[in-house]
Amino acid sequence: MNIVKNSNLGYPRIGEKREWKKLLERFWAGDIDKEAFINQMDGIRIQHLQKQKDQGINLIPVGDFTLYDHVLDTAVMFGIVPKRFKYHGGKVSLETYFEIARGTKDAVASEMTKWFNTNYHYIVPELDQSTPKLVENRPLQFYKEAKQKLEIKGKPVIMGPITFVKLSKGYKEDEFKTFIDQFVPLYAEILRQLQMEGVEWVQMDEPILSTTLTNEDFTLFKDVYQVLHDAAPNIKLILQTYFEGVEHFEDVLSLPVHGLGLDFVHDQGQNLKELKKYGFPDEKVLAAGVIDGRNIWRANLTDKLSLLEEIEQIVPKNRLIIQPSSSLLHVPVTLRNEETLNEVLKDAMSFADEKLHEIVVLTRGLHEGKETIQNEITQNSIVIQELNESSFRNNVNVKSAIKNLDTYKPERDAPFEVRQKLQEEAFHLPLFPTTTIGSFPQTKEVRKHRLNWRKGEITDSEYEAYIKDEIKKWIQIQEDIGLDVLVHGEFERTDMVEYFGEKLAGFQFTKFGWVQSYGSRCVKPPLIYGDVIYQGSMTSNETVYAQSLTNRPVKGMLTGPITILNWSFVREDIPRHEVANQIALALCEEVKTLEKNGINMIQVDEPALREGLPLKREKWENYLSTAVYAFKLATTSVRNETQIHTHMCYSNFEDIIDAIKELDADVISIETSRSHGELINAFENNTYGKGIGLGVYDIHSPRIPSLDELLNNIDRALHVLDPRLFWINPDCGLKTRGIDETVAGLKVMVDAAKNARKKLLIKCEN
Ligand code: GLN
Ligand code: ZN
Repeated sequence: MNIVKNSNLGYPRIGEKREWKKLLERFWAGDIDKEAFINQMDGIRIQHLQKQKDQGINLIPVGDFTLYDHVLDTAVMFGIVPKRFKYHGGKVSLETYFEIARGTKDAVASEMTKWFNTNYHYIVPELDQSTPKLVENRPLQFYKEAKQKLEIKGKPVIMGPITFVKLSKGYKEDEFKTFIDQFVPLYAEILRQLQMEGVEWVQMDEPILSTTLTNEDFTLFKDVYQVLHDAAPNIKLILQTYFEGVEHFEDVLSLPVHGLGLDFVHDQGQNLKELKKYGFPDEKVLAAGVIDGRNIWRANLTDKLSLLEEIEQIVPKNRLIIQPSSSLLHVPVTLRNEETLNEVLKDAMSFADEKLHEIVVLTRGLHEGKETIQNEITQNSIVIQELNESSFRNNVNVKSAIKNLDTYKPERDAPFEVRQKLQEEAFHLPLFPTTTIGSFPQTKEVRKHRLNWRKGEITDSEYEAYIKDEIKKWIQIQEDIGLDVLVHGEFERTDMVEYFGEKLAGFQFTKFGWVQSYGSRCVKPPLIYGDVIYQGSMTSNETVYAQSLTNRPVKGMLTGPITILNWSFVREDIPRHEVANQIALALCEEVKTLEKNGINMIQVDEPALREGLPLKREKWENYLSTAVYAFKLATTSVRNETQIHTHMCYSNFEDIIDAIKELDADVISIETSRSHGELINAFENNTYGKGIGLGVYDIHSPRIPSLDELLNNIDRALHVLDPRLFWINPDCGLKTRGIDETVAGLKVMVDAAKNARKKLLIKCEN
């Protein structure tokens, strides 16, 4: 048998033109029957395997494909179905599978959460007291399929037991080991069956090894992997990690597995350093993730070859497998259909298919000698250099502005207490001012107008007039409801990052550059490929128009630098924080423009601030301080009277509360409705002395909250927060809601505020 030289960890599911997504949605809508659905899905999966084979990948992953989410696949393989869904044992039906993911009339869907520090969301398995069973051996089934249909001896991909239980919920910390003990025999059985089928290689994903683990957690690895090894000693098991350097490196090296998969891209050099320090066992295989599975830039072949040479000094090439740093699920499928992208840019990019090609080229370079890929190397350095030296990346003004920041500390003129007084005088807001987070319903009609405008079916001025009408309508609605601080409604925006990206230089949008976010939902992150340049006001037209219609303050609405950064594919020729600062400088111009035009409240949203936290605690501080710096760069130039708001949506607020204080925003609004209790606890242990609105109702559901419920939420918040600083708002933007429910919900909210004011007055009088 030939030696295995390269491998892939996972291929994007969604298809070149999102065929997978469309098929799913057609099935859910009842436009296609189950048999046809399954047939066509099989077709997509087979085609993806074929593509990888044609490219020349030796070890092709099987079982990475899914109809929704690979974590959910793992759960149902063990018969884990939350009690609220119908299930009577045995293989989980397709219907139940989708019910868990999407909910039913009577049962809420399982919770969804972010897959490590990526933008992919998985379904959180709900473990309970029932004993898990192996109800189908999915890896086996997919292995057989690939072998029968394509003569591929695939590499089953399985989520490892420790990561799986860690990512699940429904147990207490001290029950962790008990659950592991339940699953290990099932994993052993899977492997035994695979071995019987003649499977040679298995990829067992344990990305949890890249997070900060306790020693106790780690000891489990030894026991678990010994059992798995003994169950199927002939299988070549690769323990696969990604997204960071591995903790407990020396111990991981001694685990009884055939090979170890390491990420050499997103580890900041840690894995190579450890490798040099501890060496690598003679009998093991190293699967080296050298091609970036998470960004879309073409690899620099020269750099990659020298990385491989360094690795080769420790691990000889007959025990070295070249692969991407993680599953390619996090990048779009192919550049092939991007016909309108600027050539200089496109030549320097690489999506999943192009990345597989890079792997194959590197494989040739390593095994047959550099000379054999000299053409590719030359070509490669030309295109990379061309982009780096292009005018896109070398704007003199941006470069000098960034340079000037070296010693600059962005701060407001006066401290909060002083600003607060001035702002009180300027705005005359009542106690517990009411406001919303920014967006109002993006109805079908709104989206249709935008589409027609983009297609050129309506003119710019027709579109603008339509947006203005919407703004006008909603200013009136807000006044009628009795809100104190109004917004224009964001009708002109599809997406809070895309909107700004389209108006700033340095951003580019692809046609088919989609990646899966969750289920059938895909996002198309912008590329930040060049210097970010402000090209004139992005929001003042709409905001100033809205303000002209009312005497109440209208908040300007911007997306913050860190959110724009975290939701984009970002250039890598300069440090990330420098890109953040470039965006911040552009936003600062916008803030100034708004202020000059009479907008005296400006909200800068940072919903993605928390999710960008590095996997490792020791890296948090650096990340947070650069985030705070960029935010302040964007927001601190204003007069003391101008009120800066920010908004974030998530729980686990405690983790970053110090950074939030440092943002020095005058008012922050936070999502809390779904985790109210937890958030309140956070404020019991921490004081927060600036304006704050804890979302008092959950906008993620169409349900209209009751007055009592809201009063209750307000009450609880006031136990831990200063009433003079408290704002009342929904927990996030209302763009996904219908008009009627939005109006009804906001009315209840304004009522609740009035009630709460009265209650407080009575309390003060007594
Ligand atoms: N201003 C944005 C909106 O209201 C904020 C969205 C968000 O927090 N994700 O839609
Ligand atoms: Zn939000």
